Amino acid sequence: MKLCFNEATTLNNSNLENDLVLCEETCYHFIEIRIDKLKEYLCKHTIDGLKNFFDSHKIKPYAFNALESITFRNKYDYNSIKKDLNFLCEVGVEINCRKIVVVPSFDIKDCSMFDIKWETVNVLDDLASMAYEYGMKLAFEFVGYPNCSVNNFSHAYDIIQTLDRTNVGIVLDCFHFYAMGSKLEDLKIADPQKIFIFHLDDAEDRPLGILRDENRVWPGDGVIDLDQILSTLKYIGYNEMASLELFRPEYWELDPREVITKGKEKMIKILDKYFTIEP
Ligand code: ZN
Repeated sequence: MKLCFNEATTLNNSNLENDLVLCEETCYHFIEIRIDKLKEYLCKHTIDGLKNFFDSHKIKPYAFNALESITFRNKYDYNSIKKDLNFLCEVGVEINCRKIVVVPSFDIKDCSMFDIKWETVNVLDDLASMAYEYGMKLAFEFVGYPNCSVNNFSHAYDIIQTLDRTNVGIVLDCFHFYAMGSKLEDLKIADPQKIFIFHLDDAEDRPLGILRDENRVWPGDGVIDLDQILSTLKYIGYNEMASLELFRPEYWELDPREVITKGKEKMIKILDKYFTIEP
């Protein structure tokens, strides 16, 4: 199992340049790059500079986060998503970052589950065709909010199974999995090859459907039964990576070095019981 840092964890107290240096020092294997931080970075640096950094350091890029609200868009907005996808594919090829997280839309009115499924399948198919030309993969992330069009594991997994493209898989995020009551039985029958990204986090004690990203806490400090999720992942043979993804404003007040260091310790403490962490 390899350790990854998702830049949302230091969203407001660090930038890409700083995250890279700190994650390298702290010996994370991977980083998930946020698009906003990437765009900010490229105002002062070049893609070549970023490529050189990865070529000369141990840490490697794992994925870009995220193309949001990809479904049910008007033509103008959808074209802007495609433009961003194109940009990420071009950067991804240069720095060898092959995955892009894509997120379904919220507040869909008057749509059946059937409509949502086929809209999502069709949009993913279209975007995946574009990504395929670059050798890029899409990781579809359901969001555990009641108003998200795809908000649980079984719905998301059914969509990517129906689509059945080698370059489309799923993001398993413990917070989202818990937040709308996804079922371990569904994870138990999943193909580990289809889990493209694993987001490790925890949640404060709130009712299902009420939890929001700011309620995320250090892995092991909340109410999610991470032991059950991790033992299920081990059971199905998933052993790729775990990425620390917290959106907690309180942690954005801390020194980013402290967040990155403490996050790694918290991850290892919980992962260690089930997986061998690669050196
Ligand atoms: Zn996530």
